[in-house]
Amino acid sequence: MKLLGLHHITAMAGDVAANVGFYTRVLGLRLVKRTVNFDDPSAYHLYFGDTVGTPGSALTFFYWAGQPRGRVGPGQATATAWSAPASSLAFWRERLAAHGVAFTEETRFGDAVLRFADPDGLGLEIVATAEADPRQPWAHPEVPLAHGLRGFHSVTLTHADSGRTSELLVSRMGYRETAREALPDGTLRVRHAVADGGPGAYVDLVAAPSAPRGRPGVGTVHHVAFRVATDADELAAQAEWRAAGLQVSPQIDRNYFHSIYAREPGGVLFEIATDQPGFTIDEPVETLGTTLKLPAQYEPHRAEIESALEPLPV
Ligand code: ZN
Repeated sequence: MKLLGLHHITAMAGDVAANVGFYTRVLGLRLVKRTVNFDDPSAYHLYFGDTVGTPGSALTFFYWAGQPRGRVGPGQATATAWSAPASSLAFWRERLAAHGVAFTEETRFGDAVLRFADPDGLGLEIVATAEADPRQPWAHPEVPLAHGLRGFHSVTLTHADSGRTSELLVSRMGYRETAREALPDGTLRVRHAVADGGPGAYVDLVAAPSAPRGRPGVGTVHHVAFRVATDADELAAQAEWRAAGLQVSPQIDRNYFHSIYAREPGGVLFEIATDQPGFTIDEPVETLGTTLKLPAQYEPHRAEIESALEPLPV
């Protein structure tokens, strides 16, 4: 497989206003696309990222208002981490505290990590890394460019036993183990990297054999998507997943990228998504995310769909 790193991560949220406020105001991300769940147009699907929602920067949400929270645990992506420069640690400590966001700190493979949760309990991290990360953040009025979030650093997948997932990543998906570190409870965090490595290319595996299995719902990750450059690379990846015995979807057109899906042996839903065509296919970069965009099949029902969606906070 010719994977290039993480593409996007999609999670489930409850209250849309609280969600938008948290990501755009507190974390300083850009709302780069407002559309609906292509499988259920009565609910938003919102994308937050850098200036253009560059692959590797986009955290996206489905909204399940009034639905119960899920349980975070084995069989899930349990933490989504952004990359920030090591020199930004104090800035983010102060900013999270100023917005009333409780956080804890730890050191991971030599980098400082702030751990916190979004309003629905979704596990988030900022890795203040000494590694080079040339990606440019969104120019947010309250977050200086020097401190802005660069895009994803890594995702943590938790399993009762990480063995089969590690084997899939290494033997079929082009990942390699790059580091391992014992956690305070005695379990291991095992870092895997793909392509050139570095922030955006990491998947960390953590084993939690005795924790209750995760349950999908608000505040949990729905799926993790990996990047490929081209459709040809995606079709090659599809063949590789099939050869590994996974049930793989056909290629699906998601307007902003083309996707295939398969559930990995440990239970996490994986997607592979193309870098093209990207979020500027249906609106200019200057006004990304400011109006509701619908796929062609829902355009005839726009008035009805729009009237059922709550207005977003500006
Ligand atoms: Zn996706």
